[in-house]
This record gives sequence, C-alpha cells and structure tokens, in this order.
Amino acid sequence: MQYTITGHQLLGFSESALGKNRYQTFNPQTGTATPWKFCEATDSEVHTAMELARTAFERYRELPGNHRAEFLRAIAVQLEQQQEDLVSVYMQESGLPEGRARGELGRTTGQLRAFAAVAESSTWMEVRIDTAQPDRAPAPKPDIRKCMRPLGPVVVFGASNFPFAFSTAGGDTASALAVGCPVVVKGHPMHAGTSEAVGRCIQMAARQTAMPEGVFSLLQGSSTGLGESLVRHPATKAVGFTGSKAGGLALSRLGAERVEPIPVFAEMGSINPVVVLPSATEPGKGWAKAYALSVTLGAGQFCTNPGLVLGIEGSGWTAFSKALAAEVDAVGTACMLHPKIASQYQELQADFFAQAGVNRMTSKDEDQADTRATGGVALVSAAAFRKNARLKREVFGPFTLLVTCEDQQDLMRTLTVLEGQLTASLLGDETEIQSAAGLVALLGEKAGRLLINGVPTGVEVCPSMHHGGPFPATTDSRFTSVGTDAVKRWIRPLSFQNFPEGILPPALKDDNPLGILRMVNGKMTTDPI
Ligand code: NAP
Repeated sequence: MQYTITGHQLLGFSESALGKNRYQTFNPQTGTATPWKFCEATDSEVHTAMELARTAFERYRELPGNHRAEFLRAIAVQLEQQQEDLVSVYMQESGLPEGRARGELGRTTGQLRAFAAVAESSTWMEVRIDTAQPDRAPAPKPDIRKCMRPLGPVVVFGASNFPFAFSTAGGDTASALAVGCPVVVKGHPMHAGTSEAVGRCIQMAARQTAMPEGVFSLLQGSSTGLGESLVRHPATKAVGFTGSKAGGLALSRLGAERVEPIPVFAEMGSINPVVVLPSATEPGKGWAKAYALSVTLGAGQFCTNPGLVLGIEGSGWTAFSKALAAEVDAVGTACMLHPKIASQYQELQADFFAQAGVNRMTSKDEDQADTRATGGVALVSAAAFRKNARLKREVFGPFTLLVTCEDQQDLMRTLTVLEGQLTASLLGDETEIQSAAGLVALLGEKAGRLLINGVPTGVEVCPSMHHGGPFPATTDSRFTSVGTDAVKRWIRPLSFQNFPEGILPPALKDDNPLGILRMVNGKMTTDPI
C-alpha cells in the first residue's frame, strides 16, 4: 500500500494523534478485528481542522472553477491509482463483495468528474443581471447583478452503507468542493481505515494541485461527541449527513440551536412504498422476482430499499405475495455491515413478526452468526397497518412488509397515513395507471422520486435525479444529495447593486469572460452586455 493506515487525523497537509482513546474496525465476514487502531479525535483537533478550513475558504472560494475541477479530477485519479489497496481495505471493513467495491469506487470517481464539470461550467452560479434604467419614472432603476456564492466550510458525515460513494470522497464532499466550500469529514467508525486511505488520496490531490491547506481534513472517532463538536464549531457553515433518523434529527437540532444556526442536510430513513396494481401481479410480468432481488440487494442496506409493498386483495395479489416470499427465501443469507446493524435488523424484524395481525410469509431463520441476515417478508391487512405505528418504521435490512388493501379507496386511505419518502413506485399497465391519476398525485405528495414499473434501488447520478423527499426522508425536501443539483445545498445568493465593472466578480462582468449562460434583463443569453 502506498499510503500506510496510521489511525491518525488528517489535518490539512499534516496528521495528528492527540487522542488517548483508540478503537478498531471489524471484518464482518471473519468476525475478527482489522489490524489498525484509530485515535479518537480531540476537541483541539476539531478546532484546528475547522480553523484551517475557515482560512482556506478565503482563497478556495476565489479560485477559478477550472482549478477546482483540476483538484476534483486529481482526487479521482488518485483513487484509481490506489484502487487495489482501497478495494482491499473496503472489503475487510464492510464485508461487501469485490464487485460492489469496484462498482462503488467507479461511481465515486464518476461523481468527482461530474462535479468537476459543474465547477468548470459555473452554471451553478445562476447569474441574474438587471441593468440600470436611469430614466425610469417615477424612480430610476439601479444596476443589480446576482450570483450564487459558496457558504463556507462544510462538515460531512460519512455513511456506513456506502464507504466510498457517500463517505470521505463521496457525493457530499465532491459537491461542496466543486462550489468552493472546504470540507471536514467525520469518518464513519465502521470503516475508519477506508476513510483514512481515501482521505490520504484527497490530501495528495490537494498538494498536487496547489490547493490552500485546510481545503480538506478528516477527523475520526467512534463517539457522538466528535460529530457534536464539529456541528457546534463556529466555523462550520453547513452539514451533510446520511444515516439514521435519530442521528440526523439530533444533529439537525444542534445546528438549529447554535448562536448562528446552520443548515443540516440529513438524509434519513425511508420505507419506499410500492403499489402493485392488479395487472402487475401476473406471474409472467416477473415483478415478484425483481422485487425479491431489490429487497435483498446489498443485504437490504440501502436507503431506497423497498420496505412496504401494497396491493388490492384477490387471487392475483395472494399469488404475488407468496411468490415474492418464496423468491426472498431462495436468496439465502447475506453478510451485513456490522454486528450492531445485524442485531438491530434481527430485533426489528422479530418485532414486526410479533405485531397483531402480521403473518410471516418467509420461513423461520436458522440460528444466524453475528453478521448474517436472512430476508424476511410479512403480510398484514391495511386496517391493521394503519393503526399500528410500529409497522411504519424503517427496517434497515432485507425485509419488506406486504399490505393487503380491500379496494382502491382502502389503498388511498393507507397511503395517506404514510410519512415522507425518498421514493414511491407504481407497478401496472399503462391503462390501469392512467385511470389511477389520484394515486399518482398522492404519491407525488409523499416522495422525492416517483417510479413506474421499476425498482427503487439503484440511484442514477445525473442532473435530473432527485434523491431527497419530504420529512422524515430528509430534513429539507427541496434538496438532493445525489446528482449535480447536490451543490445547491452549499451555496447562497449575493446581489451586487451599482458595482463598477472593475470590481464585479468575473461571472457578472459585462463582457461575460466565463462565457456562461446568464439571465440578462429577463432573457437567457451568453452574449456580452
Ligand atoms: P448513524 O447511527 O446515524 O450514524 C451515522 C454517523 O452519524 C456516525 O458517524 C455517527 O457517529 C454520527 N452520529 C449519529 N448520531 C449522532 C449524534 N446524536 N450526535 C453526533 N453524531 C452522531 O447511522 P449508521 O451508523 O450508519 O447506522 C445505524 C442505523 O442507521 C442503521 O441501522 C440504519 O437504520 C440507519 N441508516 C440509514 C441509512 C439511510 O440511508 N436511510 C443509511 C445508513 C444507516 P458515531 O457512530 O461516532 O456516534
């Protein structure tokens, strides 16, 4: 390995190991600790990282977009050059297979390059120019020009279930760096080695491209105190988080209660409801198998995992339910990320099976080792589902709850009681879906992404993607954490009134030196003024 994993904090271009407490990560496939020991970051290291970020911001925000793009592309190249070592550490700490590790790394470098293109294009600046009208009556109109600016240092919490794509060099980090915000990452304690190995690639890329020191730091720890200190630090201007509802809400409260409140963009739980219309229950359509694979993909450890499937009673729905359970049974056991996640899954699944009116559709578990999980399917009536809050919880793992509705009205009543979701899916033929316009409208109120005849797992990274949704799927349904619009979380508008040409930012100058598309006096154009 080119970079040794030391267990130290990465502070700007240096490292630090002030913390006395140590912790280790765990190989869930072998049930043994990994070889590395990690220091818990101290408050003094938090302060150093945040102050370095605060200072770096002054220079980083002024760099031309193509220089920031160069930095993002250099990170991608570093990750590719270190691929073999990174994949090895990732697999040891997550128990996920090699194909998933390489696929996720490819997604991560793809995201970095996509955000490099955003940095270069400057489209995120959303320029609006209204030129002066000195002769306007009754009062002259001033020259006003507006563009987006970076918020300042961003704290990113690495997610347990995506050690590459939603962690140290993941979408939150890449999107914040693209628009001029320094990033301090709080590594996830379940894959601290992966975080450090990736962090060293970022550190190297920052040096190679002459970035200001402090544009990136990585702090590691296994207690909530570290995350709390980072959110509380006065230099922190925004937070990106993916994880549990409890964690997201706690951090969001901390952000709101600061002397200077800051936004905490938390992507939390979702049960991703799926409505199966009668035509989709036909065995030839293959939806039972497709959904069994989606429920069990990655041991169900995805925020888009379909945890709730609703259908209308009848022989088709009965046959579909049995087929789905049989297909989930056929998948067998899978390794989860961590014994803690596996035991939470097993307890929650057992609690669902124990609820009144719930029928277990899958076979009984064999006794499972610490991190192995078996898929589960349960069936309940819509009436029983509606009145039991415990059945509306997210089960993080390969589990889904089937809900039998008496008719379309019963289905609508049931969907009405659901909370906000990342996704909602509808299976059925076109005529059936067209005649269910009310259903589509209702699902549109509940979710951030609607799918017809597909599975919600697999989130494409592209400008049209929205990976967000009404609370509690996220803390702010207006923003996405996947796709190029993810940058919108880290910027704010600034208007310049009556500024002389010489001191306007390049994006707002008359001759449009960046060559970007701007709204000038209400018209979109790249022309100079
Ligand atoms: P988590 O417990 O929410 O932790 C995520 C990160 O936030 C960790 O770095 C954790 O730090 C930190 N954190 C959590 N609560 C905090 C608090 N009150 N104050 C400060 N920092 C806090 O999520 P997880 O470890 O990834 O997995 C646990 C459960 O979260 C899973 O079983 C699953 O239910 C859910 N989850 C959901 C999604 C999703 O996309 N919806 C993704 C992953 C996990 P420390 O661990 O150091 O305290």
